[in-house]
Amino acid sequence: MKKIAVLTSGGDAPGMNAAIRAVVRTGVQNGLEVYGVPLGYQGLIDGKFIPLGPRDVGGIIQKGGTFLGSARCEEFKTEAGRKTALRALNGNGIEGLVVIGGNGSQTGSYLLSEMGFPVVGVASTIDNDLVGSDITIGVDTALNIALEAIDRLKVTGSSHQRAFLIEVMGRKCGYLALMAAIAGGAETVTLPEIDVEPEEIVKVLSEAYERGKSHAIVVVAEGAKYNATKLAEYFTKHHEEIGFALRVTILGHVQRGGSPSAQDRILASRLGAGAVTSLLKGEYGVLVGWVNNALKTTPLKDVVGKKKQLDMELFELARVLD
Ligand code: ADP
Repeated sequence: MKKIAVLTSGGDAPGMNAAIRAVVRTGVQNGLEVYGVPLGYQGLIDGKFIPLGPRDVGGIIQKGGTFLGSARCEEFKTEAGRKTALRALNGNGIEGLVVIGGNGSQTGSYLLSEMGFPVVGVASTIDNDLVGSDITIGVDTALNIALEAIDRLKVTGSSHQRAFLIEVMGRKCGYLALMAAIAGGAETVTLPEIDVEPEEIVKVLSEAYERGKSHAIVVVAEGAKYNATKLAEYFTKHHEEIGFALRVTILGHVQRGGSPSAQDRILASRLGAGAVTSLLKGEYGVLVGWVNNALKTTPLKDVVGKKKQLDMELFELARVLD
């Protein structure tokens, strides 16, 4: 193998730059030519390959986002689109591809690998919803941003005896919300995996009020049955029962923009380097992830379409500690 390419796809995650840097530098150290593909699968379809040397990826490890750009590309979901991408790869003499991205992106990489092209995925998404990696690139930074927001809202909440509904990202995975709730000492948390009715939250809040708490925090996962906006509508009608005055904060994309944490930089460096090692070993059609505190490759066919299970012990812990 002489020429490989790397792309970032789907939702950006802090640490993607560190992963690209690791792919480029590990690749070059091993005698490979490395090319960056701008804007994810769209760049592949458009046949855009930018040569990258070790110096081109200098000064990016501390930056959030992805300097290659990312995109959502509908065309790649079609067979015709993937065939165009395959022609571009072959036409440019590229012999291996590293796809840094989340669930959707790895579905794309699986389909491309099924067409016979050597692809290796790198687990990167703030949602932490990828089977094949206990933790994915970007999660730690996003969690710390959510935590900082919770800490700040507690301060203002205490001054006014307010309850805050804080909605965090994570799509259909409750990992970020659950961890933010435990680390932030939230009164309660709602998750996509476990339905919590608004009546139960009203009960938790009114009990906290009765116990004399000066503030209350409810962490709401964006993919929960009731998102923060829907809950707020319900609570407005039941204001008397709650006691606290209520405010809503939706963190949204703020969670994505941070400078990657030490953990994300290190994870990204290890996974990016691991992806090149896999390509060099001829181990294709796999996701490089972090499992039981070690690098692990999992066949992409065992990753796509699977749902990561919620850790029920942690959910119980969140309940006990509220
Ligand atoms: P993420 O990788 O963060 O989960 P998306 O789900 O938006 O983000 O997926 C990113 C891109 O991956 C899509 O825009 C598309 O190009 C590609 N992709 C997603 N799902 C599929 C699919 N089923 N088949 C082929 N490509 C897909």
